[in-house]
Amino acid sequence: MRGVRSEGDTTYDVIVVGSGAGAMTGALLAAADGLDTVVLERTALLGGTSAYSGAACWLPGTQVQERADLGDSTESARAYLRAVVGDAGEDRREAFLRHAPELVARLEKDPAVEFEFQAFPDYFAAPGRMDVGRSFIPCDLPAEELGDLLPLVRPALDRDREGLGHPEGPLVMGRALIGRLLLAASRTGNATVRTEHRVTGLITEDGRVTGVEAETPDGTVTLRARRGVLLAAGGFEGNAALRAEHKVAGSARWSMAPGGATTGDLMRAAVELGAATDLLDQAWWCPGTELHDGKAGFTLGLRSGFFVDTTGRRFANESLPYDRMGRIMATVPGPVHFIFDSREGGALPALCLPPAEPEKNLAAGNWVKADTLEELAELINVPVDALTDTVARFNGHAATGTDTDHHRGEDPYDRFFVDPRDASGPNPCLVPLDRPPYYAARLVLSDLGTKGGLRTDVHARVLDTDGQPVPGLYAAGNTSASFTGGAYPGPGLPIGSAMVFASLAVRDMALPASGISGGAVGGGRSTVTAPPGQD
Ligand code: FAD
Repeated sequence: MRGVRSEGDTTYDVIVVGSGAGAMTGALLAAADGLDTVVLERTALLGGTSAYSGAACWLPGTQVQERADLGDSTESARAYLRAVVGDAGEDRREAFLRHAPELVARLEKDPAVEFEFQAFPDYFAAPGRMDVGRSFIPCDLPAEELGDLLPLVRPALDRDREGLGHPEGPLVMGRALIGRLLLAASRTGNATVRTEHRVTGLITEDGRVTGVEAETPDGTVTLRARRGVLLAAGGFEGNAALRAEHKVAGSARWSMAPGGATTGDLMRAAVELGAATDLLDQAWWCPGTELHDGKAGFTLGLRSGFFVDTTGRRFANESLPYDRMGRIMATVPGPVHFIFDSREGGALPALCLPPAEPEKNLAAGNWVKADTLEELAELINVPVDALTDTVARFNGHAATGTDTDHHRGEDPYDRFFVDPRDASGPNPCLVPLDRPPYYAARLVLSDLGTKGGLRTDVHARVLDTDGQPVPGLYAAGNTSASFTGGAYPGPGLPIGSAMVFASLAVRDMALPASGISGGAVGGGRSTVTAPPGQD
């Protein structure tokens, strides 16, 4: 158990469960408002999947886009979201759009929090789209600034999977975001962080959530909240049984979330209290390269090569945004293979997180290599004629620069990851497959987390099955059902929306009627609701 502040208190104003971007934003803002706040994190490290992320924040119409002179606006983002998401979640979409600029202005008032624009195109060709995108990232954070807090932050995905700590140098991307929010929260003097506190139950008094029960290495503890409990503990991507129950495509073992950290405990505890859920079959999907250790690597940004299904044919534009490709992969039967040639020396010609090591994957048999396409087709069990025909057809598209089958390279997103200076043909996304030996890497359907969960309102209050708020209970991030429904509109939506709704939750908690002066705690009969069979 490690604390930013002295430990031992068991009653706080605000309890935040989880320590991803939403949780830490909520904790910072509550603490900055003078509320005594505790963050309870199940693992020994803060940050969850947020720490692994690129930390792109899709928060439109803010001072960051203004500084970059982008011409972004809340209005254009509204048009874009309406076109991409449709009518689903309209009230929360409005709350998100209205609050994003205010949130960013407030966060950046803190000297520890600073963002910068980073080009990354929106994911759909729709009205209001920004071709250079509208998301931004945290500025790198010098490790020295975090000082003693550094070991609390979860390392990057590749190092964390290997059990390695932080490398030399500044914290970047997700680690910078978590580090900055942690630093700012610690400086308020009102925030406590308790790691190795797995919240297993919600305490209610007279129908109001007033605390939690948590398992710690020292036994079970009870913590009380005067104003509210914010559940921001990720989705249930790591829970194979829950995934099967809700028919989430993919697999817990191929999810990119930290192993075993996010299993949906709190969603189940809230449902026991009558909370409603939504979108439980949904995830933020992506193609995953199956790695030698049986896990997956988040795969995007192809520079060459293409994907085939069991027929030996291409089935989509391989440069599609990853969630869109993931959704297509979920409908494709059988294994999908990433076919590529030797132009990058046998390395995967795409971004893969963590990086795929060719020799280890060839040894493990999830990659194969052959001098001819005929041999390659036999090794991956697809019809030889179909694969050779697919290659010939693709190379024809590369020569003309036009993919008449799947239109690869026609969208600004497709071209984002390729450097036109490297292009030998008319379309930098269409590179001929003509340099033996040839490779096939097995792809799986991976995800960045589930996106269905507790139904919430514009204040991030958890709603019951009658649409009424469960008093004292709030949810944000992947613990809640996303307002984006079945779409992933642009880079940074998961984290941006988690931050906004966590912020709205603590704003609601800060209202006098929400807490102490509302006389919420004390006197009533106290019960603990825990989901059956924690795994
Ligand atoms: P998390 O960040 O996973 O945090 C949940 C935390 O809750 C974990 O630390 C977990 O241990 C803890 N927890 C779980 N159960 C309990 C419990 N019972 N008690 C206490 N604690 C508990 N999204 C973006 O928006 N922008 C990006 O640039 C981006 N890049 C990505 C890159 C990669 C490689 C990956 C893997 C994902 C990326 N994503 C990105 C997706 C994004 O990271 C996640 O969707 C998002 O961070 C989820 O946030 P969260 O707060 O819901 O959960």
